[in-house]
Amino acid sequence: MKFQQSYFARRNRVQHRLDKPEHLRNMACTMGSRNLDRWSAEDWRRTAETVAKMRASGWDVISHCPKCNLTMRVDLALIERVSGGVLWNRQSKCRRIGCTGMVEFQGRPPRLHRHIPLRAKWPR
Ligand SMILES: [Zn+2]
Repeated sequence: MKFQQSYFARRNRVQHRLDKPEHLRNMACTMGSRNLDRWSAEDWRRTAETVAKMRASGWDVISHCPKCNLTMRVDLALIERVSGGVLWNRQSKCRRIGCTGMVEFQGRPPRLHRHIPLRAKWPR
């Protein structure tokens, strides 16, 4: 019994080492930084601060009104021409007639499969 216990204890220790060898843990870290789902809004903002950069790298930007639920695709080329600048942390009046809501912008960066709210502190 005593032998058996120590055998299993030793085997568990070995197994534990096999589960997470050093090189695999390092690889996991590298993969983590490539896992776009884990990027923060700040990370994304760093890659595309301006409307021009979003357009150049192929972002899909939509506006959503939480009050009436109107969702529209944002014409980045038009925004760039008309107001240029930045869509991060910006709000705009809802364009549905009679709605007093404020839309918020959401963007889907290339290779990400969902839109993220364009709300982020200035990236450090
Ligand atoms: Zn609305």
